[in-house]
Amino acid sequence: MSEAERLDHFMARAAASYYAGREPFGARGDFTTAPEMSQAFGECLGLWAAVVWQQMGAPSPVHLVEFGPGRGTLMADALRGIATALPPFRAALRVHLVETSPSLRALQAQALGEGVAEWHDNADSLPPGPAIFLGNEFLDALPIRQFIRRGGGWMERFVLDGAFVEQPAENPPPLPTEALEGTVQEWGEAAQGFVTALSRRLAAQGGAALFLDYGPAESGPGDSLQALAGHRAADPLAEPGSVDITAHVDFAALARAARAAGAAAHGPVPQGIFLQSLGLVTRAAMLARAAPQSAGMQLSAAQRLIAPEGMGRLFKALALTHPALPSPPGFEVPTA
Ligand code: SAH
Repeated sequence: MSEAERLDHFMARAAASYYAGREPFGARGDFTTAPEMSQAFGECLGLWAAVVWQQMGAPSPVHLVEFGPGRGTLMADALRGIATALPPFRAALRVHLVETSPSLRALQAQALGEGVAEWHDNADSLPPGPAIFLGNEFLDALPIRQFIRRGGGWMERFVLDGAFVEQPAENPPPLPTEALEGTVQEWGEAAQGFVTALSRRLAAQGGAALFLDYGPAESGPGDSLQALAGHRAADPLAEPGSVDITAHVDFAALARAARAAGAAAHGPVPQGIFLQSLGLVTRAAMLARAAPQSAGMQLSAAQRLIAPEGMGRLFKALALTHPALPSPPGFEVPTA
């Protein structure tokens, strides 16, 4: 008989085996992400980085780092946009990709070309110095813990043979003192640790980070664990590696962790508002005019990225910066 495994340990194992074993993106995969929908997405993020670089005082060299780059599409589009818009930034930047999956590393190398990027297993091996960090749908893949209200206390959720079992919590985080019986409370321990370390680095060495992902604007109770297989909802506790398992990102908790570690946090703002303020619609219209045969696809992708009923509201953008930097582009608006 197997042993119950804490949910975050199960999720870490499931995510590692899932991303190592297959190419999950696109129409034939399990899900489609923003950079795979429109090149305008990566181009706009490249322009965001270019403006931030100028706000930083145009340091040279500077590191441009992406966490969880998938097929490498976002970085390829960002670099092309940067080379056109601000060649001195392209010349100053060094590309680093933080990716654990060997098969995705190979795709990223193909997308970017020989000698363009350096790869890292995690942020610890990144070289020091001022840096700009990007991450799209990276934080949602980081493992979460779940607690469930039972008899006036909290039990922790473990996984055994594809189902939840409840056990007394080991080192529980601070949880609400009151909740209705059966309430599920999540704790993104891995994401919080990641953001804390990154924020310390930003405060000490300068720079900014931009994360886009789905999650609510405010922290709250609820079970957001989900899985996709073939673009359909699947059982998140299915055999590790067989489905894409993610959870909503608690942006408010991450903003608090960043401030506690000495960085400034901006947002979260809804993705639709963020991308519109970066000019995504204008860019998509230009692409549509330049290639009439794919104009419909360009415009509908931009619409889906921005519309509240598409990805515009559930997805959020969060920026973390050195505390002396001004608000980065797209974050001048009131927060969500
Ligand atoms: N940013 C891409 C891919 C999102 S999928 C896009 O938008 O299309 C999540 C990505 O994060 C994959 O590249 C996956 O291999 C990577 N990843 C997941 N967990 C990781 C971890 N702990 N460390 C580094 N990369 C991770």
